[in-house]
Amino acid sequence: MQTCELCGKNIRFRRKKTARGYICRDCFDLIPSWVDISCAEKDDLSLAKEFTEQRNKEFNFTASYQNLYIDGVHNMFALSCGKCPLSVKRTKHFKDIFYISELREVGIFCTNLRNIGKNSDCVVCDVKFRYKAEIKDFPKKIIEKEILLGSNVECLYDYQGNGKIDCREPAVITTFRALFNQMIDNEVNRIKEKLDFIQSTKDLMNENYSHCSSKSTDWARGVLFFQDNEPIDIQKLKKRRNEIIKIYHPDMGKSDDANAVSTLILEAYEILKSQIAY
Ligand SMILES: [Zn+2]
Repeated sequence: MQTCELCGKNIRFRRKKTARGYICRDCFDLIPSWVDISCAEKDDLSLAKEFTEQRNKEFNFTASYQNLYIDGVHNMFALSCGKCPLSVKRTKHFKDIFYISELREVGIFCTNLRNIGKNSDCVVCDVKFRYKAEIKDFPKKIIEKEILLGSNVECLYDYQGNGKIDCREPAVITTFRALFNQMIDNEVNRIKEKLDFIQSTKDLMNENYSHCSSKSTDWARGVLFFQDNEPIDIQKLKKRRNEIIKIYHPDMGKSDDANAVSTLILEAYEILKSQIAY
């Protein structure tokens, strides 16, 4: 009998071959579909499994269409493994989960429009979902896929006369695309706000403060966005420092700028910290 490389349990059936051994079905369901299991080492599989488990903890779908699930709260989407949406019901988790911010391209569209009616018109299409994403925790990992969400989906149509009909996509697609687009808009706004915020702090520091010879409490409060009379304790101070540092680090803006800003933030932090009575 074989044992699973990842969880160690005995496997009788439905095992999956890896580079040097096997994994069980349960572990397999937690490896993203873009990982080639057949040539993967144990350590890589273990990382991939952890990655999926982490995303599953965050992901809570708010709407779905066939195999495609979206989480409008966290701006994420997930695909249930290929053939059956039922596998999600069975396992309660998804193999492939993405953040909207990881998308490079996306589309939901109808294709292969055809009339399958025998005695009257019955116009159907296939519904496809295409995406290209770059995974945050696996930089340079670009996944590009086109997935068939539904086939023989009935389309709406109007008679135009002369035997011609004018087709429209199924209403469910229009609605679902609107939901998906809403997530994209939310993400864009979030990034815009972040950039505006960074821009404003940069101006503040560069123009007004970076040449001050003596850096005062007011200066430090300004850098860390405390109101004039706002009371500060050590927890609050640390939290604010971490939040602001995080915004600059590590992938936002040019690294020289980010370093200069980090230095100023830490300096302001030290000034305010020295004034807190313990
Ligand atoms: Zn296992």
